[in-house]
Amino acid sequence: MVSRVIPVDPFDLVIFGGTGDLARRKILPGLYRRYLAGQMPAEARVIGAARSDLGVEGYRSLIAEALEEFVADDMRPAEAVAGFLDHLGYVAVDARGETGWADLTSNLRDSVVRAFYFSVTPALFSDLAERVHAHGLVEPDTRIVVEKPFGRDLASARALNAELATHFDESQIYRIDHYLGKETVQNLMAVRFGNILFEPLWNAQYIDHVQITVAETVGVGGRGSYYDKSGAMRDMVQNHLMQLLCLTAMEPPAQFEPDAVRDEKLKVIRALQAVPEPDVVRGQYTAAGGMPGYLEDVENPDSTTESFVAIRAQIANWRWSGTPFYLRTGKRLRARLSEIVVRFKQTRHSIFDADARGAPNELTIRLQPDEGMDLRVTIKEPGPGGMRLIDVPLDMTFADALGPDAEDVTDAYERLIMDVIRGNQTLFMRGDEVEAAWAWTDPIIESWEADDRLRPAPYDAGGAGPEEALALMHRDGRRWKDIRT
Ligand code: NAD
Repeated sequence: MVSRVIPVDPFDLVIFGGTGDLARRKILPGLYRRYLAGQMPAEARVIGAARSDLGVEGYRSLIAEALEEFVADDMRPAEAVAGFLDHLGYVAVDARGETGWADLTSNLRDSVVRAFYFSVTPALFSDLAERVHAHGLVEPDTRIVVEKPFGRDLASARALNAELATHFDESQIYRIDHYLGKETVQNLMAVRFGNILFEPLWNAQYIDHVQITVAETVGVGGRGSYYDKSGAMRDMVQNHLMQLLCLTAMEPPAQFEPDAVRDEKLKVIRALQAVPEPDVVRGQYTAAGGMPGYLEDVENPDSTTESFVAIRAQIANWRWSGTPFYLRTGKRLRARLSEIVVRFKQTRHSIFDADARGAPNELTIRLQPDEGMDLRVTIKEPGPGGMRLIDVPLDMTFADALGPDAEDVTDAYERLIMDVIRGNQTLFMRGDEVEAAWAWTDPIIESWEADDRLRPAPYDAGGAGPEEALALMHRDGRRWKDIRT
């Protein structure tokens, strides 16, 4: 199978924060892979912009080191790396001052697509938007890419949206959620809307419940001070888990077109019911198995910030009323795993002996560690001895099914950046979506902040999360799928 690479138009992509962790780990390696795939036109330029006075050669060396660290050896022939580095420029710019802006202005060309990637701390988003605009760098076709987090509550997200709207049209703003760039997430839409098989069953009549899990094995690492002010609800649920929920639950859009898709996602968020206190569990990991606890990691013995959240979410609309969506995410869990599990109902009537009955069908959409899907179906256990039923996986791991083309599924950032250059906003969050998501999560966070008796439930580092999260499902006569890979 030969992968089809559709070249994009020539561009100037300015990466504010071009020396930072995200730029070195994801953005530049992603662009390099697009270069290798032949997608980057000869006239394309990537301009790093940060505070340090590096010069172009200094920046190219920094990125050469980043590629060595974050791109596999066999994907780094010397001439390819050199060819990619030729596309890189650098300007020392201060987002909060006048330094470097004249230099940046003179570096940009009028005839190509222009995009500014805000890969800096969110505290600088407004400064950058204002300066990019004030220096006359915004043309009708100019785009900005805004990293997460987009606000820390509804009020701040509204303020940021309003600020951006004074300088840019909504069609120019690309709010990134890299989960939306994952191959499997798009495959969820392909499977739902490209087959006759699933959509007729995709509702409360046939689906018992949905589980969405994003489990990490890492703790808060070096991000302790940031994370402690944020917590799992803001860091993961409001954005990534809600996006996965929306794509699973949304109505079929009339076309696969940016606003048609985003309108449907927004309707899902707006249909989410307020979450009553018993339907949400927050947890905090404690030392176990030689791993430190959360309080040690963030060096704050009094912290009540959650490193784990589980929610029983209910969508009050015709399609989903009565089918709960269980969301769960946490750090320092047993395995690194992101998946959506759609559990179908049992057959209405079994023609087989009661003890021969198979398990309900289950569709698992895996985002991590290996992207793929797995549908469990019931068959007859082979061999004599009567009609005994077993359930078996119809497994499709993309790396197995697609062979070398599976290389293309490795990183979401590169796909999303190419979408920015193409001017396709389908996989980016619209301002109203982000606000609606905060409007749903804010009351939960506020209830925690208002009552500090509601401390997070402890769970062992390396475990499956707090007991209370298990109880959340047991109460409904259901259980979480194990966190294991
Ligand atoms: P970082 O601290 O490693 O890098 C920040 C960059 O901003 C550096 O290049 C720095 O030189 C530049 N900078 C700082 N002050 C500046 C100023 N006044 N003017 C111009 N440039 C300035 O941060 P990061 O981890 O790369 O994160 C960047 C953004 O991406 C943040 O919004 C973060 O929340 C988001 N993000 C990061 C990750 C990640 O894995 N690192 C993941 C998801 C989202």
